Amino acid sequence: MSARWIEVADGVHVRRYEELDLSLGLVVGDDACLVVDTGGDEVQGAEWASAVRRVTPLPWTVVLTHSHFDHSFGTQAFLPCPVLAHPNCVDELVIESAEEKDKWSAYYTDQKRPEIAAAIRATRIVLPNTLVSERTTVDLGGRIVEIEQFGLGHTDNDLVLRVPDADVVFAGDLVENGAPPSFPGSFPASWPTALAGLLTLTGPDTVVVPGHGEPVDAAFVDRQRADIAAVVELAAAFVAGSVTLEDVLRDSPFPAEATRRAIGRLTGRNRSGR
Ligand SMILES: [Zn+2]
Repeated sequence: MSARWIEVADGVHVRRYEELDLSLGLVVGDDACLVVDTGGDEVQGAEWASAVRRVTPLPWTVVLTHSHFDHSFGTQAFLPCPVLAHPNCVDELVIESAEEKDKWSAYYTDQKRPEIAAAIRATRIVLPNTLVSERTTVDLGGRIVEIEQFGLGHTDNDLVLRVPDADVVFAGDLVENGAPPSFPGSFPASWPTALAGLLTLTGPDTVVVPGHGEPVDAAFVDRQRADIAAVVELAAAFVAGSVTLEDVLRDSPFPAEATRRAIGRLTGRNRSGR
């Protein structure tokens, strides 16, 4: 499992995994630490937990930025502990995790990575035990972490974390660096508003940690917000009949596949959400 640490601020670490370009987070206080997301299966979760233990022996709290497998399936390795998530994350894990297992184990079988496919299939789904439906804080001793949600975006259960003293924000997959935003299951029409909410937590020097890719700054987030808003506008024009699909694909800031996914979430049966 190829991974490396980066320390984005004093006691605020990001573990960067080659697989899926995933970024998992660790915030260390005086009395406790906070783990941001748990990886895509129990094997990765166990590796991640032991990597955290090499940094700090402090008790941990887990926060899941959202329900997707690569962020939430590794939780078993951290138990027993508080596992915080948005209430909709619980629903998604209950309802969608079997389908996610099928989909992603098939993906890794196709990729000739049978060990990952098997690990995903074997994963025991752990439900969050502490629900975050409004802004909350976690006290790590000498350092707090703020957690909040800014509405529908990448999913219906995206949590954003801020470490005020370090000026670091963990964005989950509301922000991706190195790949277009992931639109399957998303809510593109309100995603820009969610990013505008996230941007209220940032200043010129804020480090924003995306769910995938290297850390970015607020200007990057604002560009991604504008790009998603542009796709939403193009899709609306397409639905209204004033432009063709080819026009949209040509003018979109994102590759065709991502643009098609976004349009699919904005039209037809998905138009008013799920
Ligand atoms: Zn995701």
